[in-house]
Amino acid sequence: SKRSTPGKMTVLLNSVLKAPGQKASIPHSPTPQPSSAPRIEDFRFLKALSKGAYGSVFLARNRTTGDLYAIKAIRKTQSQRKNTVSHALTERRILSLVRSPWVIGLYFAFQSDAFLFLVMEYAVGGDLGGLLRVYRRLPTPMVRFYAAELVAAVDLLHSNGIIHHDLKPENVLIGADGHIKLIDLGLAKMQSATPRLSPSSPPKRQTATYTDAAPLGTPDYMAPEIVRGEQYDRSVDLWALGCVLVELATGIPPFHAASPEAIFARILAGEWRQSSAALDIDDDLLSLCRDLLNPDPGKRPSIEDIKDHRFFEGIDWSSLRETLVPPFIPRPASDDD
Ligand code: ADP
Ligand code: MG
Repeated sequence: SKRSTPGKMTVLLNSVLKAPGQKASIPHSPTPQPSSAPRIEDFRFLKALSKGAYGSVFLARNRTTGDLYAIKAIRKTQSQRKNTVSHALTERRILSLVRSPWVIGLYFAFQSDAFLFLVMEYAVGGDLGGLLRVYRRLPTPMVRFYAAELVAAVDLLHSNGIIHHDLKPENVLIGADGHIKLIDLGLAKMQSATPRLSPSSPPKRQTATYTDAAPLGTPDYMAPEIVRGEQYDRSVDLWALGCVLVELATGIPPFHAASPEAIFARILAGEWRQSSAALDIDDDLLSLCRDLLNPDPGKRPSIEDIKDHRFFEGIDWSSLRETLVPPFIPRPASDDD
């Protein structure tokens, strides 16, 4: 996979570690920090895992314990995107409320004058986008595994009133055991302040709807109602899931084009269902993708319908992580590989 050049990384690391005013932030805190509260100085930054438009993710080691973490550093100032801080706070809030094996664990969150830091569990297998770059396209049994785990992960979010809103291969990580974990909840929407995490609580019947001033997300995976700026609900995640499954099976997301405008035009044209007949993918998988990529959000299947689809025949949804055998187990050369 791609590695950042040392030069660029040094610049990034320096900007994170030597940002002006960085040390002042912790004494400014109104409540005394317990001695166990981590500070950025407690971590040794090893390498950049990714460089985003408004933040970067670093692999870092706790100097005392030796444990590895992925630290997302989000720049508070000079942001190209206006809502950077509010997205980071959304991500922090949701990650700290949702404790599930399907979602990346958040250990600490703290800030300096210049950066917000989210200290997350490190998923050594990298993201599904990286896996896809190696395999180009995944064989059907492998697609079935990631599809089933994605359905379970989306089910967990939706039954807690959370819409992910930015599902794509780069936001799905592979843990050391080969099972998936969702990340990047900065664009997520949460229905209520207290998620119902108890498994005994009944699933929500009512679905919250949202509208954004401008379409947010990644063009390739955006549902038509988001592109049009209309009201949307959690079924946007099912549309995105359909896009991801097509991409895993073929190597290319279904509406891909040279520019965002051209992608939006393809999404709105609604010709995918007819042209999809030509795709070289498993019949049952294609049928599932056609269900998910229904331009009418109200006609997309429910999670229960999806679980009952022929493509998932034989899958035991009650104990997925225990019964499904991951097709890929990361074998790092060292713990920080
Ligand atoms: P962005 O908002 O920039 O997309 P993400 O949270 O999606 O930020 O992280 C960007 C990339 O960093 C991911 O696609 C993944 O490759 C890597 N990454 C993020 N979090 C982790 C983690 N906890 N473990 C391993 N890699 C991670
Ligand atoms: Mg991302």
